[in-house]
Parts: sequence; structure tokens; C-alpha cells
Amino acid sequence: MTVTTLAELTTMRVGGPARAMVAPETPEQLVEETLAVWASGEPWLVLGGGSNLVVADDGFEGTVIRVLTRGIERVAEHGDRVRLRVQAGEPWESLVAYTVDNGLAGIEALSGIPGSCGAAPVQNIGAYGQEIASSLVSIDFLDYLSGDKQTLSAADLDFGYRTSALKRGTQGVVIALEVELRRSDDGLGDPVAYAQLASSLGVSLGDRVELRAVRDTVIALRTSKGMVLDPADPDSVSCGSFFTNPIVGENFARTLPEQAPRWANSPEPAPVAVPLGEEPAAPPVQTDFRVKLSAAWLIEKAGIGRGFSLPGSRAAISSKHTLAIVNRGGATAAEVAELGRFVQTRVFSEFGVRMMAEPVLVGVSL
Ligand SMILES: Cc1cc2nc3c(=O)[nH]c(=O)nc-3n(C[C@H](O)[C@H](O)[C@H](O)COP(=O)(O)OP(=O)(O)OC[C@H]3O[C@@H](n4cnc5c(N)ncnc54)[C@H](O)[C@@H]3O)c2cc1C
Repeated sequence: MTVTTLAELTTMRVGGPARAMVAPETPEQLVEETLAVWASGEPWLVLGGGSNLVVADDGFEGTVIRVLTRGIERVAEHGDRVRLRVQAGEPWESLVAYTVDNGLAGIEALSGIPGSCGAAPVQNIGAYGQEIASSLVSIDFLDYLSGDKQTLSAADLDFGYRTSALKRGTQGVVIALEVELRRSDDGLGDPVAYAQLASSLGVSLGDRVELRAVRDTVIALRTSKGMVLDPADPDSVSCGSFFTNPIVGENFARTLPEQAPRWANSPEPAPVAVPLGEEPAAPPVQTDFRVKLSAAWLIEKAGIGRGFSLPGSRAAISSKHTLAIVNRGGATAAEVAELGRFVQTRVFSEFGVRMMAEPVLVGVSL
């Protein structure tokens, strides 16, 4: 019997074998096989495209549920809004291609992101000024605690920057999702909301540009950074950005060097549940606004440049930018984690900022 290792199923190409694996191809099989795995009491791990996972060299002592369902369906239209229902195993890239081919605007700047549609809400995928949060209506979710199929609205998922209730610990499996996009009769995408994209397109922020031009330009930008999976590009053997951009208080941000890039990040305070019969409290006054820092800048200024690796290690910083850790061939999860910890330590000792890993770590800690 051939044992499949997680290294073969993840884009970082690290990770030992799974004790068992199921690979459902229909929504019915996905529910049935997941419930059977849960009933067995074994540890379990849901796997989509494996592009945001770092799994330990010892592998996974449980059952991997590899979601291979497919399908994109147009389910409703009202006004200029079109609703699509997408099965969790559908590759995200094929959904974006479908929307651009069919003149639907809302996720065109998310072109080139690897992985499955079911995983996209988990970390609220985002790039070049768009996030799935602004197009997602709901997910069909198989809840681990109850074993029931539920529909969770976007509000239930409590999206944040590269996070959601699912990433924070709500356990279960996304079976399908519904996204709503704008039918673009003039063929134009949403207003461009990212400076580098605007400059590559030769337009101003807020301008609207043909959907296909946005998609092609985003893919070209991503390719130049090794952020599109490409067998010919060793810098794409990664899980994308290894660290999220740190979010710190405004007061702390003032202690950083003036040149440190920063962006305002002061979302509305999260709504707080009010016990029945009580008046909702006035929203808290925000005294310490949040500021988002550039992880890439912090890493570089902490002395870790492009292509950096620790002596004897096959894990390295991408040669195209400092945000990705790449497997240069045969690296172990331990080597990846060691480099991740090194980056964290250097940035912390230089700036007092703790860098948080973006991928999901399974049996690996930083
Ligand atoms: C080259 C490269 C570039 C990238 N660029 C970006 C980027 O620009 N923006 C961005 O946000 N991300 C980016 N990523 C990260 C990654 O592509 C996304 O996070 C993607 O959504 C992960 O999808 P996946 O199917 O591969 O998930 P996996 O890696 O298989 O799983 C990730 C997590 O989601 C869970 N999961 C997977 N499927 C389901 C499901 N059906 N139900 C419940 N949980 C599930 C897994 O258990 C795990 O916790 C990049 C990765 C790479 C390799």
C-alpha cells in the first residue's frame, strides 16, 4: 500500500503521512464520510488545496478529509446582483476565471490565489484591495459539535484581516458557499483599491478598469513575486505569505522608526451580545486606534534579506520578497519552523513586534 504524505498534498511540500484519508467527491459523500470520521473519535483534518498548511514531519495521527467536490452554479439574480453557489472543493482560481469570463465583478483582484473555495472564508483570503468577505453571502457548514448541517451568514463568520470564526476555532467543514457579485454590463471591475495595482494598470485609485485587465495585471504582479503556483518558479514552493502584517496600537506604532510603513486599521468595534431585557451599552470609545504594519518591511529592517537561509537549512526566505518562506528542495517542516522562529526573534528584538504565522500549523509550533 502506498502511503500518501502531506508533503505531496501541500504547496510547502512538507509533512509526513496521514494515518488515514478520505477523499469525497460529491457533497453527499462529504457529509457522510465526515460524519463517519467524527463518529470514529479519531483526530481529523480538513484539506483543500494544501496551500495554507504546514504539517509536521511526523505527519498527522488521524484522518485527513480531502475535499474534492466540484461545481459552480448560478442560483439567483436580483437587480445587477448575481448569486453563485460553489462547492467547497472547487479551485478558487477556477471560480475567479468563471466570474471574469461571465462579466461578474467583485473578486477579480483575488486572481491567482491557490487553494479551494471551501478554504477561502477560513482566513478571509485577500489581495490587491479585495477580500472574500465583501462578496460572501453564506456558507453551508457541517458543525462538529452538533453534527448538523447549518447555513452560516457572512456576519456569523466574524471576518477580520486574514481571519474568521472558522480560523479562530469554530470546528466543522465548509460544504458549499454562496457568493454574490455585480453583473458588469460595461465589463468593468470594482473600483481599484490598491495603489500598486492602480499604478501597474496606469489608472488612479478608485478608477474602474476592464475585469480581464485587472485579472491579467494581478496575475502578472503575483508572478513577479512568486505568488502564483508555477512548477518553473522555485520561489512559489511556499504557502504564500508566512506572516500576517502585524496590527498594533497607535501609541505603540509611534515608537517605531518614522519610515516604517503603516496603515490605519480601526474597524468598528465588534458588536457585543446583549442579554434579553437589557439595553445595549453605548459602543466603547476607541482610545487606541489600531495600525497595520508591513511585515515585509519589519523583516528586511531586522536584517533578514531576500534569499536568506540558516546554515545548512533547505528552507529560505523567497528570493523575490521577504514575506514568504520557501522550500528550496527537501526542506523539513522543522527547518521551515526554525526559520519562522528566527524571523520572529529578530523582528521582536529589533522592534518589539511579535510576528504571527499566517498558515495553519499542524503539529508544528513557532
Ligand atoms: C503561492 C501562494 C500565494 C498565496 N497568496 C495568498 C493571497 O494573496 N491571499 C491569501 O489570503 N492567501 C494566499 N495564500 C494562502 C492560501 O492560498 C489561501 O489561504 C487558500 O484559501 C488556502 O486554500 P486551501 O484549499 O489550499 O486550504 P488548505 O491549505 O488545504 O487549508 C487551510 C485551512 O483551511 C481549512 N479548510 C480547508 N478546506 C476547508 C473546508 N472545506 N472546510 C473547513 N475548513 C477547511 C484547513 O483545515 C486548514 O485549516 C497563498 C498561498 C500560496 C501557496
